[in-house]
Order: sequence, then structure tokens, then C-alpha cells
Amino acid sequence: RKRVLSGVQPTGSIHLGNYFGAIKNWVKMQEEFDAFYCVVDLHAITAGAHDPKELIKSTRSSAAIYLAAGLDPERSNVFVQSHVSAHSELCWLLNCATPIGWLEKMIQFKEKARKAGEDVSVGLLDYPVLMASDILLYNADIVPVGEDQRQHLELTRDIAGRVNNLYGGGKWKKMGPKGSRAPSGRFRGGDILRVPDAYIPEAGARVMSLTDGSAKMSKSNPAEGSRINVLDTPDEIAKKIKRCKTDAVEGLEFGDPTRPEATNLLTIYQLCTGMTKEEVLKECGSMRWGDFKPALTDAVVEHLSPIQARYAEIMQEEGYLDGVLKRGADAANEVAEKTVADVRDAMGFMERI
Ligand code: ATP
Ligand code: MG
Repeated sequence: RKRVLSGVQPTGSIHLGNYFGAIKNWVKMQEEFDAFYCVVDLHAITAGAHDPKELIKSTRSSAAIYLAAGLDPERSNVFVQSHVSAHSELCWLLNCATPIGWLEKMIQFKEKARKAGEDVSVGLLDYPVLMASDILLYNADIVPVGEDQRQHLELTRDIAGRVNNLYGGGKWKKMGPKGSRAPSGRFRGGDILRVPDAYIPEAGARVMSLTDGSAKMSKSNPAEGSRINVLDTPDEIAKKIKRCKTDAVEGLEFGDPTRPEATNLLTIYQLCTGMTKEEVLKECGSMRWGDFKPALTDAVVEHLSPIQARYAEIMQEEGYLDGVLKRGADAANEVAEKTVADVRDAMGFMERI
């Protein structure tokens, strides 16, 4: 079976963008793929000084949301990134094979660094290499993410290609028979790392902010009113939608570049109701904002309420979440240790006896 891997950072509350851009597709994919889904807590500390108590809370809560959203621990390996130390180790090995210029070009780095001002850590620059490690450790064939991660996925492919070229096939082959220079003889040459594909959904790949239709919805936006969280109460959802940015045009439509808010809110409606674009247009195309907003609120509340109910159950069941995460980490460690051992071997590190 082909393998899928993805993760969300526990940097705050999981919102509709994370849900429709990523998690909802994870749930579908667990049916046909060998699935690994992690809470990427090592990524969550790249944004500058963090609150340790918040990190641990957010890590548990994120894992519980994965399960509440429909990940089945019988079908998916759900784990916490820092429980598998191979992520950090492979990151170091890949760091040394990654030109710094590749990282300085990353749009997310440039944006987040601009916002962070003077407090930009090495970790923020290195974020995409850690992400490449996450993916490559599991030989993932496919990585379901939102549109904002496309560039990082391409970088992952470049890093994998470079490592394969430097230490696997490529130049290696030119030095002699395939793999003949592999130092310990265990690694026989050829591709060390599998080059993965991105899976980016058609609708939901880029859910926009409620307060600015041209910026993506983000956990790290300090304005709480800019996003709808999966765990928001019906009241909070109603309030946020009531206050969200609209325009003075009558009627609603998809795809007008001068009306990003209309496209975004109709898309959220489409995703929450499961309707097609055509059905949404038929129902809402001639609505005024004042009529559409309550309809949208109902659709969001209805979509999220079963997830919230399951979340409450999971958080109450003593020991359940820990058990799932332990089994997930065991399964993940088994695969990850093997990959990192292959990379160490191919790069010429002496075997530990
Ligand atoms: P942060 O602001 O801390 O970076 P984030 O909201 O961008 O948080 P991430 O943890 O970085 O969330 O991303 C997790 C997953 O959610 C990724 O697959 C990412 O592509 C997806 N994602 C994030 N924001 C959106 C969005 N607005 N629309 C669709 N997908 C999104
Ligand atoms: Mg992000």
C-alpha cells in the first residue's frame, strides 16, 4: 500500500483552514493508504519563545481533534513528532545537504521573519528541512497539505533528490559499480529517499481570513476574529461571522478577484454543507449579506458540532489519548529508525556495534 504522511503544528487552535485544507483529506486517505499523521510539536517552537504549558496543552488538544475529526487509530498511526527522535536526527543530516540559499527563498520564511522582526531563530529558517525530514522518514508517497505548503513540498523533493544524487545513485554510480563505495556495505546504492507528491484539495486549499479576504486563515494571526476554530462555540462562530469583512455589492458570487470575501465565505459554505458550487450559487447567488450570514453560521455550527461532541468524549476518557499516541509513536519509530539508519549508512557514518 502507498503511504501518506501529514501534520499540523500545535501553535494554537486548529481552524477551518487546517480542517478543510488538510485534516478532512487525511480522514479520506486513511481508507486506502498506510497512514501516518503527527502533531508536529518540534515545528511549533520555531516562531520564537513559546509558553511550555501552552505547548503541551495544544499538543494534546490537536491530537484529540485529529481523532474527533475522524482519524481512526485502527487505520491511522497518530503520533507526536517529538516522540520520534529520528525527526531531529534526519533534520541534521539533511541540513548539511541543503544549500542555505534554498531556505532563504522560502515565502513562508520571508513572511514570518518579517513579522518576527529581530527575534528570528535559526529554527524558523530551518523549518522546511524539518518538514522534509518528517516526510522522507516515512518514505511517504503522498502528502496532503494546503496550498501554502506547496513550496515546502517542492523543496522536500529537491532535498530528497540531492541526497539521492550525492549519496545514493547519481554521482555515486559514476565512482564505480552501483553502491560499491558504500562505506559499511549495508547500503547497496540507488535511491535512499523516496521523492513524494503533494496532494492539495480543489476546494479548501486556501481558506482565507474572515477579516481580510486576501490573507490566509492562520493560527498565528493574533486577531482571534480572523478565524473560526474547530472548537469554537456556536456563539463565538455567530459573532465572528457577524463581524467578518464583506463588501457593498449585492448578490454573491465565486471567483471575482475584486470580491475575495464573497468567494471565501461561499467556499466555506460549500465545504460545510457538502454542496457543489452550482448548488451553492443557486441557493445563495441572489442573497444579501444579511441573509447569507445566518445561513453560513448555521452550516458551520452544524458541521462542527459532531466533531466537538466527539472531542469532549475523547478528552474525558482517561488514558485513551495517551494509549493511541503511544501506539502511534511505536509504529512511527519502527519505520523512522530504519530510514535514518539507511541515511547514516549511505553518508558514511560508522556503525555502532
Ligand atoms: P501557523 O500560523 O502557526 O503557521 P497555520 O494555520 O498556517 O499555523 P500549520 O500548522 O502551519 O497551520 O499548517 C497545517 C496544515 O494546514 C498545512 O497542511 C497547511 O497547508 C494547512 N493550512 C494552514 N492554513 C490553511 C488555510 N488557510 N487554508 C487551507 N489550508 C491551510
Ligand atoms: Mg502555517
